[in-house]
Amino acid sequence: MSFFELDLQAMMEWRHTIHRNPELGFEERDTSRLISECLDSWGYEVTTGIAVTGVIGRLVFGSGEGPTIGLRADMDALPLKEETGLPWQSQVMGKMHGCGHDGHTAILLGAAKLLSEIHASDNHLWKGTLVVIFQPAEEVGGGGGAQRMIDEGLFDDFPCDAIFALHNFPGIPVGQCEFKRGPFMCSSDKVIIRITGKGGHAGLPHLAVDPTQPLGALILGLQSLVSRNLNPLHTGLISIGRIRAGETYNIIPELCEMELSVRALQPDVRETLRNRIHTLAEQIALSYNCQAHVVYETGYPVLINSDKEAAVIGEVAQSVFGAENVDIDASPLTGSEDFAYMLQHVPGCYVLIGNGDNGYTGGERAGPCSVHNPHYDFNDECMNGGGQLWLKLIEHYFTRN
Ligand SMILES: [Zn+2]
Ligand SMILES: [Zn+2]
Repeated sequence: MSFFELDLQAMMEWRHTIHRNPELGFEERDTSRLISECLDSWGYEVTTGIAVTGVIGRLVFGSGEGPTIGLRADMDALPLKEETGLPWQSQVMGKMHGCGHDGHTAILLGAAKLLSEIHASDNHLWKGTLVVIFQPAEEVGGGGGAQRMIDEGLFDDFPCDAIFALHNFPGIPVGQCEFKRGPFMCSSDKVIIRITGKGGHAGLPHLAVDPTQPLGALILGLQSLVSRNLNPLHTGLISIGRIRAGETYNIIPELCEMELSVRALQPDVRETLRNRIHTLAEQIALSYNCQAHVVYETGYPVLINSDKEAAVIGEVAQSVFGAENVDIDASPLTGSEDFAYMLQHVPGCYVLIGNGDNGYTGGERAGPCSVHNPHYDFNDECMNGGGQLWLKLIEHYFTRN
């Protein structure tokens, strides 16, 4: 299909348009409108309003036989003040496409356009149903846009045989791709622990019950869960991000509070940590005559790439990027991603594509930085590789019989 080419110019323009007007989770109205107007003009059956701003495009090749393949892009920006100084810098104070979701959206739009051109041409024998999924609110906790799309019927109305998503990754050179079958990204939970004692005068500790004692023991004890309760070859971590106790030096506080980030690469590790945090907090508090109350807020699950789909995209990625530029056994990440919810319902694979060292920015402090940094920018040089990956993946599924 070599005479069909990605419209890289249009992809760059969509990306810059979306970048200038970043919209936070569930507020992606202009982005959503741009996407649905494009899909509609290319002949897709378009569904809008799923999970508030989500957009789904469906295109049937042949007469309904063949596999149904979903491709997902995220659309939301971050509450961050952009400092790149680029010509397409955010025009909205305090909001920024600091994770490259503008790029993911533009890549999927570019692939969708090209696939519609192949669909409209006479000289193909493709069979299958393409479902392009533009998801809101990846950055929003508490289930994110992916879970909400599923709750509102995404896979009931558009049952898929396999689904795929990509994310850019600063630090991996442009033109390289990496992922891993099995657990690839960690679950991420938030835990709030409140320890209650009995407040009193700092000079009369025997008349009070000091909750800072179990708090101190718990800070140390929590790390023993990782080192003593987990299989050393598995991955779990606990970070204490916030601690609060008391107001001033001469009062024994009544209440202490801490907040934890708990991550795990295996679902059973996640369960072990969850159970042991409860037990440890409650029993330590009790041993100091205090009481602990644990609030466990479940976040994104472990992201697990399925074996068969990982093998397929590995083969396709090697044909796009070159075998030497694809790592199919990359190190897992301790970050999390709400595409994990979609992978709980449909087998599929999530891959990373290199964004380079972010040397592409024209800002004052241009240089290597990660996503979620005010100097970050998605690298437009990734567009071709990302678009080709989606194109070749669909070609593989729709032409293999
Ligand atoms: Zn992000
Ligand atoms: Zn992201």
